Amino acid sequence: MGEKIKKKIKTIKVDLDKCNGCRACEVICSAFHSNPKYSSNNPARSRVRLIRDPIRDIYVPVYAGEYTPAECMGRDKYMIDGKEYDECAFCRAACPSRDRFKEPDSGLPLKCDMCEGEDVPLCVKWCIAEALTVEEREEEVDEEVKMEDVEIGLTSMIDKYGLDKVADTIARMSRKE
Ligand code: SF4
Ligand code: SF4
Repeated sequence: MGEKIKKKIKTIKVDLDKCNGCRACEVICSAFHSNPKYSSNNPARSRVRLIRDPIRDIYVPVYAGEYTPAECMGRDKYMIDGKEYDECAFCRAACPSRDRFKEPDSGLPLKCDMCEGEDVPLCVKWCIAEALTVEEREEEVDEEVKMEDVEIGLTSMIDKYGLDKVADTIARMSRKE
């Protein structure tokens, strides 16, 4: 078993009762991720999208999650205040079946990156209705193998024994698995 280390986990808590649908979160997220930073804003590039139904007073900020290469086989239906929502309405995935959470020019998937490690994510800062708040907790996780440590180790082995010998040893080890 590897060593356990403490990792800080940030979560954005969404209070739907406070969201008024202003879309400031979409604007600042797309501006922060534009190139150069803050040079433009286009909600289609935002990693948080607002699902709106102003007539029923329903606003749901949905955060971009993982990319998925295929549509899911089973989907979820949501009923809110008696209205049924599209099966994919609140899904976080960048998926082949729709354009949401895809960079409009390149089609590359978008994912919330918590503003690249900013202390307070910008969508949280810009939400003056305080519908978004950030929480932080510590969790014990297995120590990750750092690839740069592996590379440094390999380089010194190659220096000492030569590339062929190291490559032979790795090939022999992988055959044993
Ligand atoms: S900034 Fe806040 S109030 Fe405005 S749409 Fe986003 S979550 Fe809702
Ligand atoms: S945390 Fe940052 S990257 Fe994620 S949706 Fe909010 S503004 Fe965008």
